[in-house]
Amino acid sequence: MSEVASDDPIPAPWAEGHEQLVFCHDRPTGLRALIAIYSTALGPGLGGTRFHPYPTSAAATADVLALAKAMAYKNALAGLDLGGGKAVIIGDPRRDKTEPLLRAYGRFVASLGGRYITACDVGTYVEDMDVVARECRWVTGRSEAAGGAGDSSVLTAFGVFQGMRAAAEFRWGAPTLQGRMVGVNGVGKVGRHLIPLLLEDDAAVVIADIDPAAVDRVRAAHPGVEVAASTDDLLQRHLDVYSPCALGGALTSRLARSLKVEVICGGANNQLAEDDVADLLAERDVLYCPDYCVNAGGVIQVADEMEGFVFERARKRTERIFDTTLAVLRTARAEGVTPAAAADRLAERRMAEVGSLARIRLP
Ligand code: NAD
Repeated sequence: MSEVASDDPIPAPWAEGHEQLVFCHDRPTGLRALIAIYSTALGPGLGGTRFHPYPTSAAATADVLALAKAMAYKNALAGLDLGGGKAVIIGDPRRDKTEPLLRAYGRFVASLGGRYITACDVGTYVEDMDVVARECRWVTGRSEAAGGAGDSSVLTAFGVFQGMRAAAEFRWGAPTLQGRMVGVNGVGKVGRHLIPLLLEDDAAVVIADIDPAAVDRVRAAHPGVEVAASTDDLLQRHLDVYSPCALGGALTSRLARSLKVEVICGGANNQLAEDDVADLLAERDVLYCPDYCVNAGGVIQVADEMEGFVFERARKRTERIFDTTLAVLRTARAEGVTPAAAADRLAERRMAEVGSLARIRLP
């Protein structure tokens, strides 16, 4: 287990309004984990477990707090009766992940008695959730064999497509990508599943990915898809829709000033790399569909798993991302703010208004 500096200043959870931050330690298994709950106003805090070799405890704390808050907003906007939480396990998942460590982690999740519900995130997979679930009831994202919903990227991609259709309705007056040129950057699990939906809707698709194997897989399945010479080549093109589906932080201020696209709608998390990007895009009349609004299909899927997963029901719920995206874009126009700010406002309103219903005392 890698050493983590312990003398760094740890961010305080109350600075951003989080409810709870739990440090978990089990010396025999080497487990060092943090569980953050931003809000349980709408229900238990749902969010995945990230397994990552953070250089310091402060870095791990800052990340888990930011991720938990983001989940609260995502779950609220998606209309789920769930709050927001997130966990990080400090370590190298390839070296440090063991059955005892994951099970020790599961016991700490169990100790919260359902205030936090976990799932997969970067560095954890469905088979890991199966192990965590041996110690704890509050686990989603398990394998189909273990009664879970399995890979969530299919519905994530479907939700992004619904968001794109809503953006098309808002921008061009019809909920279709027919005849539009869509650039997909990153064709891993989410990007790859988005492509057939676009093709069925008669869009033209151009892709880029830094991994040649990912590109080859798409080319083999969909010979009609154009492959850009590079990511930079894709980013310099005139596109109707640009869909970032690789890593976070993809939209920098520099890129926001140079992109020649009408709509941005993609699956990647935390797309806005800097604070001014949403404003820059709005000034250039680029319609930005907030990432956490359109990529909520995955969390809708894991939320469904808690009721006993039914794909068709989860798909129907994911379809509502169309209405949610339209509501966000219309709110932005009506209230004179960027779509990113409008999404935050709608999420905050729902947390405040629905979240305070507990004031009505039940017998
Ligand atoms: P993935 O690892 O399967 O795919 C990512 C792809 O992006 C890979 O093919 C990789 O080679 C490519 N890539 C990495 N850097 C790139 C770059 N600079 N330029 C072009 N391509 C690059 O991951 P995924 O599950 O498809 O997730 C993609 C994004 O969507 C992530 O930001 C993830 O957090 C987010 N997301 C995923 C889900 C889900 O259900 N999988 C849900 C919500 C959000």
